[in-house]
Amino acid sequence: MIAFLSLLARNRLALAGGIVLSAVVLLALVTPLLPLADPDVTNTSNRFVPPFSEGALLGTDHLGRDLLSRLLWGTRLSLAVGFAAAIVAATIGAAIGIIAGYYGGRTDNVIMRGVDMLMAFPYILLALAIVAALGPGLFNALIAVAAVNVPFFARNIRGITVGIAHKEFVDAARLAGLSNTRIILSEILPNVIPVIVIAMSTTIGWMILETAGLSFLGLGSQPPQADLGSMLGEARSALITNPHTSVVPGIMILVIVMSINLLGDGVRDALDPRLKSGALSRPMAATQVKRAGPVPAPTGKGLLEVQALETQFHVKDRIYRAVGGVDLHVEKGECLGIIGESGSGKSVTALSIMGLVSSPPGVITGGAAHYDGEDLIGAPYRRLRDMRGRNVSYIFQDPLATLHPLYRVGDQLIEAIRAHRPIGKEAGRAKAVELLDAVRIPNAAKRITDYPHEMSGGMRQRVGIAMALANDPDIIIADEPTTALDVTVQAQVLTILDDLRRSRGLAIIFITHDFGVVAQLCDRVAVMYAGRIVEEGRTTDILDTPRHPYTARLMACVPELGGGKRRLEAIAGLPPVVDRLPQGCAFADRCLKVQDDCRQGDIPLVRSGARAVRCLYPEEKAREAAE
Ligand code: SF4
Repeated sequence: MIAFLSLLARNRLALAGGIVLSAVVLLALVTPLLPLADPDVTNTSNRFVPPFSEGALLGTDHLGRDLLSRLLWGTRLSLAVGFAAAIVAATIGAAIGIIAGYYGGRTDNVIMRGVDMLMAFPYILLALAIVAALGPGLFNALIAVAAVNVPFFARNIRGITVGIAHKEFVDAARLAGLSNTRIILSEILPNVIPVIVIAMSTTIGWMILETAGLSFLGLGSQPPQADLGSMLGEARSALITNPHTSVVPGIMILVIVMSINLLGDGVRDALDPRLKSGALSRPMAATQVKRAGPVPAPTGKGLLEVQALETQFHVKDRIYRAVGGVDLHVEKGECLGIIGESGSGKSVTALSIMGLVSSPPGVITGGAAHYDGEDLIGAPYRRLRDMRGRNVSYIFQDPLATLHPLYRVGDQLIEAIRAHRPIGKEAGRAKAVELLDAVRIPNAAKRITDYPHEMSGGMRQRVGIAMALANDPDIIIADEPTTALDVTVQAQVLTILDDLRRSRGLAIIFITHDFGVVAQLCDRVAVMYAGRIVEEGRTTDILDTPRHPYTARLMACVPELGGGKRRLEAIAGLPPVVDRLPQGCAFADRCLKVQDDCRQGDIPLVRSGARAVRCLYPEEKAREAAE
């Protein structure tokens, strides 16, 4: 709750809306205690007194009634009806939506077709029809406004419920023998309440307007009772001659609806984790680049040379330093492994190279990535688009998420080929079959017409590899491509990549958290922790004699076949949060060898031949000292 309120308070517009609405609600609550004139007492000798007159701060209306008094009493009534209608509509709509979404099948069909029929009517006509049937009056207006908004809530909540009803935790509750009512109350409802709150916060203003509209037409509040709509309706005839009678309630409606909408938007942003992080804002075509320092010049090391790369995520006023000065290079025909725990910055490093980190919130704040001498960081988007897939291509972890579910895999492959080559569809098709053959998809000419869901996970990943190879790139960046696969398929995919690397001279950057994969495929390996490389060297050297305590402890976590009985280590604690990195060594809190000086100042990456280590007391030195 505190986190929600602090997020809400950070949104200035929502905060302003909340303050204004609170002031209006407070005024409405204390209205009976204020020394106001009776709002219904007429005094025709005092008609149309202008605002700021003595005894009538906002003037009087056509019957000489005090406008300030009528405004406050009317606001009280309008707010009460608007909130009550929202609660009624949300309760009934959510109940209908949950029942339809949870039970599905025929129940869902019958309920939702009824909802569709209600939604097919223009809502104002429907409201008028309901009030006409029930008779004019504020309570009937409330019923009408609530009724026309029930379908909106039902549709929204049903959609969310359908998704939740098939989640594993609901299945687990069913298996545990819980009744449907208990599952709905204990598993479904808590998950849809934020959506109900969001929907309510964005519709209360609308319902107040609808109630005012019905009162304006004479179907809501009845004389002499005042609400904001009826005040507007009564002021219609004096709109030109005495505009204050309509301006006063008009401004109050505007203030209430605006403040509710601003607050509602803030509530939605604060409750929706995707909106909180900016993930739903449309990303830029290439990562935003704001380099403060000088751009490193290429040293000619490798086909791709990444130097002092810094990538951050700017979320509201927080800065997450996902990559904090990474240097690495990869030669033609070489495979470089990048290994580390989740959140260590491996993927962000790889995505930064071709400007694929989403902006917002991603920003590259320093460094360079030279491909064949050309800096890719900050390159014009057209140049990056031209090079993506042609010079540097990616294989992602989840092929089901990267392949379009509605297109055949062949069409997607052909599109990838033709994006870079002016060839006809038939030639593209022949090339696609050739690529599927190369990644050992049996009966490629037939499987090319499959949709992604018709293939197994291993097959889909092979299609991902084929797509990455489609334009004969020089570098492939493979981001944990075998994590979701079983070991047999994983071995097949790794063999394919290794063969392709040797036959085509491909450079591969292979991101993984699996030392077994590194041992099988990589020539060199870089170990990352908290956004920085902490150790780098030839794979055999690193595996045989890890020097950084983090690498050593990572390897101690790996079970060895035939290695006899031994205790499997686990690294206690968690990596630091990258918006609050500690002083000195980021691994210090988890390191068994930590000394006082480890927590002071930056720890440099010290290179010695092919090895590099970022540690003041590396493992080998400790062993030498012991000897
Ligand atoms: S610098 Fe110190 S705390 Fe960091 S890994 Fe080395 S020994 Fe451990």
